[in-house]
Amino acid sequence: MDLTRYIADVADFPQPGILFRDVSPLLADAVAFGAAVHALGAAAADLEADLVAGIEARGFIFGAALATRLGRGFLPVRKRGKLPGEVHRASYALEYGEDVLELRAGIVPAGARVLLVDDVLATGGTLDAARRLAQAAGLVAVGAAVLVELEALGGRARLGTSLPVRSVLRY
Ligand code: AMP
Repeated sequence: MDLTRYIADVADFPQPGILFRDVSPLLADAVAFGAAVHALGAAAADLEADLVAGIEARGFIFGAALATRLGRGFLPVRKRGKLPGEVHRASYALEYGEDVLELRAGIVPAGARVLLVDDVLATGGTLDAARRLAQAAGLVAVGAAVLVELEALGGRARLGTSLPVRSVLRY
């Protein structure tokens, strides 16, 4: 199945000069969505994660679906100020702008192996921040799984060999 047919290219969103890869058509199609989650699971199977950590917001969609498929628990990595209690925090630069990610402290035992999930890998700043959060929480980030990798933006190289990246579609 050619999943690229379900990714909409939106020029100049959310800022001029950005070509936004919108997964909304894929999510709206039951077969394409299922195939995408299946492909993510197959791509990341060898990483042997105990938990899936999805990054707000679109990483929640794929991460939660993947977690249930793999029979694993799910950790939400959220934007600033959304999580109660003690949190770990990491700031990062996006392809467009800056933000802060947070992870609840003390939810899972130290040493748990987590797979980081997002919809798109661009420059890698988001996944790098998620990795730093996982480390701050005493967790082991075993890799990252994304539906779309924008190869020209160099995210994979930025993340380095210590965080293996598994992508389903590459542009
Ligand atoms: P980065 O931190 O540069 O790797 O950016 C990845 C994050 O920003 C992901 O959460 C994506 O959802 C979003 N993102 C960045 N660039 C794009 C793009 N061109 N199309 C869709 N989402 C993007």
